[in-house]
Amino acid sequence: MPRGKSPKLFVFDLDDTIWRPEMYLLNGGAPFTKDKKTGRVRDRTGEEVTLYPAAREALHELATSKEWQGSLVCYASRCHETDWAHTCMDLLDVGDGLNVASCFNAGGVFQSGSKQGHFQVLASQHGVDFEDMIFFDNERWNITEVAKMGVTCVYTPNGLKKGQFEKGLQDHASRK
Ligand SMILES: [Mg+2]
Repeated sequence: MPRGKSPKLFVFDLDDTIWRPEMYLLNGGAPFTKDKKTGRVRDRTGEEVTLYPAAREALHELATSKEWQGSLVCYASRCHETDWAHTCMDLLDVGDGLNVASCFNAGGVFQSGSKQGHFQVLASQHGVDFEDMIFFDNERWNITEVAKMGVTCVYTPNGLKKGQFEKGLQDHASRK
């Protein structure tokens, strides 16, 4: 349980932050299939799309923990294969019958360009100050741009790894 200030809005990049591979690097893309027994999701060539375990845990916690009731959770992505991304959000499970899409209770933004634009959209959609947001992304440029706005930013160069979610919460709580 973090002490101090908690974020009101959680924002996750998709490609190579919560899942791999990046959509544009898939061998085949749609249609995607899900193995009913294992829950594994594959593109038409059989290439698997997987959630980083720590991302799955973080999304599950945000969706189920009392602590985060009322928090907003969304994505900010520059992915061009938005249909594929939506399908993967629907197909990928985080446990307890929840899929990734249901964890993003505040939806998200797909657009190109600087992620400052994504955050302008999110701020006006949700009326949340940048100082009350936290952002996870695997690309340094995105982190640098969004940090300038006052958002707590967590650089996840190898996808979200164990401890980075909690560390981000600590960093956020210790600000101001
Ligand atoms: Mg990314």
